[in-house]
Amino acid sequence: MPLFCKQCESRRLPVMLSAGKETLWLCEKCKNFVNNDDFIIREQTEEERQEIKRKLEEFEEYEASKD
Ligand SMILES: [Zn+2]
Repeated sequence: MPLFCKQCESRRLPVMLSAGKETLWLCEKCKNFVNNDDFIIREQTEEERQEIKRKLEEFEEYEASKD
């Protein structure tokens, strides 16, 4: 599993872009995706960046409201 980015050695995050598709690994620093073979697929788009940010914020709000 390509858990760490070869370029900057940051941790990659597994991202499923759409249901049923393979999981890609995102480096938030380099802003690119690799597949399970650690092969760079493409750069992350601005839209995807916002979407992931939004999901993360939702998750954090949910976690904060649990008590
Ligand atoms: Zn990187």
